[in-house]
Amino acid sequence: MSGENCFDVLEKIFIPKHKKPINEIKGYTIKYGNIVNNEGKVVDEVLVSYFKKPKSYTTENMCEINSHGGNIVVKKILELCLKNGANLAEPGEFTKRAFLNGRIDLLQAESVIDIINAKSEREAKTGIKQLEGFLSKKITEIKQEIMDVMVNIEVSIDYPEYDVPDVTNYQISDMLNSVQGKLEKLEKSFDNGKIIKEGIKTVIVGRPNAGKSSLLNAILKEDRAIVTQYEGTTRDTIEEFVTVNGIPLKLIDTAGIREAKDEVEKIGIEKSREMTKEADLVIAIFDASEELTKEDLEILDLVKDKKTIIILNKNDLNQKISKSDERLRNVSSSIIKISALNKTGIEDIYEEISKLFDLNEINLDQDIVITNVRHKNLIEKALQSVKKVQKTIEEEMPLDIIAIFIKDILDDLGNITGEVVTDDIIDEIFSKFCLGK
Ligand code: GDP
Repeated sequence: MSGENCFDVLEKIFIPKHKKPINEIKGYTIKYGNIVNNEGKVVDEVLVSYFKKPKSYTTENMCEINSHGGNIVVKKILELCLKNGANLAEPGEFTKRAFLNGRIDLLQAESVIDIINAKSEREAKTGIKQLEGFLSKKITEIKQEIMDVMVNIEVSIDYPEYDVPDVTNYQISDMLNSVQGKLEKLEKSFDNGKIIKEGIKTVIVGRPNAGKSSLLNAILKEDRAIVTQYEGTTRDTIEEFVTVNGIPLKLIDTAGIREAKDEVEKIGIEKSREMTKEADLVIAIFDASEELTKEDLEILDLVKDKKTIIILNKNDLNQKISKSDERLRNVSSSIIKISALNKTGIEDIYEEISKLFDLNEINLDQDIVITNVRHKNLIEKALQSVKKVQKTIEEEMPLDIIAIFIKDILDDLGNITGEVVTDDIIDEIFSKFCLGK
């Protein structure tokens, strides 16, 4: 419970073993006792943590009741809280209060959602970094740069007798260039951020018996692989999120590959075409112990415009296809020999993926990575505003007009951190939270 009166509610339902007036209980302490109903009957034996304002998650008075698990008891305690004056929290309300009370900014609040929903270690790491305020700091830094110049502009407008317009225009241009560079870097980081957040959408294609299931098993059986299953975007597909060697992969229709084993009809070229369309990465696998078949050539044709890694499988057998085969080279220069059966060469695939997606370039400890579409859109908007100011300077507009456009950039940036954000946006952001977070 959070809020001015939460201790009043607590007092009505909690009998501590050693009773002390609430004003004598210190924050960050835990008391042992019983939750009782209105007839004085014990509902559960609990521990209650006390947080006194402003030192709490929401900066308000807060208490947390730790009961025994199970649905019934928890529900009863919740009912008692509600009956005695508490209101049920909206989704994200605790974090929303932390934001509205100024303990965290909007970026940090959003990062809480990202941390809760993180599917990979990398993603959790970016979330935590954002919670620590790295992105906020960067945005504030950019804003400060603009403000420094704004001050000069205001002086020039208010005290034209001191005006040195050339200097001011130079300063503005310099500042704009620097701000533009920084914003563009952030904007670019979004592509990496998307990979971290959503995984590289990957599809494995190959004719029957090429070794798709064997490769899939080799990937999924990695000790480090954490597998989460999702309903795929296309009907009847299942997506699996795995992190191998720190690479987040979203494998499309892994179930289809598995099931195809038992079916007379294996995954056909049509289905492959459909899956390939939505993939960020195609792993095209061929049985190198046989010559390329007509079907293999069809698959090569299918993936020629995609980011593709060609796998020559079964390198434990006599080889009939070589890495230098022009028909392969024309499609992709990433060609890797493996044995899915013996699980050799699998690491080379990961290395190739890292190379293709510049994953080694993403330095999470140093670079700030944007993962949120809202932030990306606002950064794009700020960049447009920067360009508008540049244009007004070129057109030799008066300083007060330029100043108005510069304020637009500040507004766009303020929207990211939540200083000038509207209620609708706040509501929308917090509605993505689970209840009570
Ligand atoms: P899929 O139909 O593409 O899913 O292919 P599978 O993974 O089911 O493999 C077809 C057959 O090839 C199976 O009998 C596998 O054991 C065999 N196989 C797969 N990879 C290799 C390999 O690297 N070496 C050898 N010798 N056999 C393999």
